[in-house]
Amino acid sequence: MTDSISSTAQVSTPLEFEYNAIISQYISYFNELRDAGKKRFIERTIHFQSIKSFSYIGMEERKEVPILISAAAVQLTYGFDKYELPFFKNIYVTPDAYLKTGEKEIFVGHVSPEGIYIAWKYFLQGYSDCTDNVNVAIHEMAHALEHESFMDEASVDKDFKTDLAKFSSVTGPAFASAIVERKSYLRSYAFTNIQEFWAVSVEAFFENPAALKQSMPGLYGTLCDILNQDPLTADKILPK
Ligand SMILES: [Zn+2]
Repeated sequence: MTDSISSTAQVSTPLEFEYNAIISQYISYFNELRDAGKKRFIERTIHFQSIKSFSYIGMEERKEVPILISAAAVQLTYGFDKYELPFFKNIYVTPDAYLKTGEKEIFVGHVSPEGIYIAWKYFLQGYSDCTDNVNVAIHEMAHALEHESFMDEASVDKDFKTDLAKFSSVTGPAFASAIVERKSYLRSYAFTNIQEFWAVSVEAFFENPAALKQSMPGLYGTLCDILNQDPLTADKILPK
């Protein structure tokens, strides 16, 4: 797999052009990348999609669906060497919010050992408004990434599990209580538990990085360290 960033690399094959055309319509993070970065992003998206099985529950298969869901995973893990999330082989897509067996609430996405579930309507909403800090695809991929590190440490980058453990035991709760005391910048769902605090923080990190950095610089810096990227820079990836 070619995965290094060379300064001359550009989108070049017909398949890459097709992915470029679709991803650039929806994901501003992608549009901010330089040519070599776009190529890396597209190569990763093609590969990620090729190792997952996509199932459509109550909706027609559509070409852009697996491409864009794969792209969301690639965005989250863009700073890592390991980005395949190999524990999760299946991705299920529903047209709208859905009921889960045995639960009363309606879901727009969730992660279970069977796979990653995303409601397509809410996927699109997530990427259409970058100011509301809500992005279901990033949210579920953040849960999947955390889960992945627990299932098999070797399937994520070396420092990720340690950094995340620190976040979960020390940093996260400290941030959470500080935020609660001063009224939160993050939506209230973040305070359900530490897993939700992680996923909601990551959503805000990608949805509106400048605003998160301004209102919560400590949390922003911690997320840059954990994910090894800074969405406010053109290259995104931070040197290790
Ligand atoms: Zn969640």
